[in-house]
Parts: sequence; structure tokens; C-alpha cells
Amino acid sequence: MAYTYDPENIFAKILRGEIPNTTVMETEHSLAFLDVFPQAPVHVLVVPKGAYVTYDHFAAKASDAEILDFTRMIAACCEKLGVAADGWRLISNAGAHGVQEVPHLHVHILGGKPLGRMLEKS
Ligand code: AMP
Repeated sequence: MAYTYDPENIFAKILRGEIPNTTVMETEHSLAFLDVFPQAPVHVLVVPKGAYVTYDHFAAKASDAEILDFTRMIAACCEKLGVAADGWRLISNAGAHGVQEVPHLHVHILGGKPLGRMLEKS
């Protein structure tokens, strides 16, 4: 799959400092910030700073340093947010079937209450 990255997506604008965010953590390669429309008491988005559209794009093309930094930031966020003891959920939506709204890779860290089943039965 060849991905085309749209540099005008809203998370690219956040990373360039063109629109504000509420930062939770920042490292050389990654940024974590509060979701503007939280769907749980804890709802944080973690994004790589590089131009990756989806998780599979990132996993295939990112450098080892970027992947390590991003993965460790997820762990650090869980620690900082205090979600590990009671449990939490990691979601990354991709493409049309995944209902991805913003075409810059992000993972959602959700927690702070029981989250229900992963998918509704259809
Ligand atoms: P997804 O459907 O996985 O692409 O989710 C995109 C997420 O980005 C949604 O949960 C939105 O609430 C969130 N979002 C959109 N714009 C912003 C923003 N400016 N700052 C923080 N979160 C945002």
C-alpha cells in the first residue's frame, strides 16, 4: 500500500504549532495531547512527528528510533495518566473502514472508566 500524506491535516498543523493543543508529553519524535472531544475520562492522542498516515504505514516505514520513541511514549503516558491498574484501551483507526477522521497516524489512549466491549455487534 502506497500512502500519500496530506500536510494540511489538523495534526500536521498542531505539530507545526499552527493551532493549539494541550500537550501531555513531548519527545524528539512524538507528541501526546488531549483529544478535544474526549470519549472517556482519560482520552489522549499520541502521534509521531513524522509524516505517517496509518499505523501500518508507520510500522513499515518509520526508523527504529521513531518506532522506539513512539512506543515508549505510550508506556510513559499510561504511567503519567495512571490507567494501568484499572485497565485502558489503545485504538488506532485507519482508512475508510476504520473510520479514520484525521489522516496522520494517532493512537487513542482511553481509560478512567469501564469502556464496554471493543466493537458493537452489528
Ligand atoms: P480518528 O477518528 O481516529 O481519526 O480520531 C480523530 C480524533 O481527533 C477525534 O477523537 C477528535 O476528537 C480528535 N481531534 C480532532 N481535532 C482535534 C484537535 N484540534 N485537537 C485534539 N483532538 C482533535
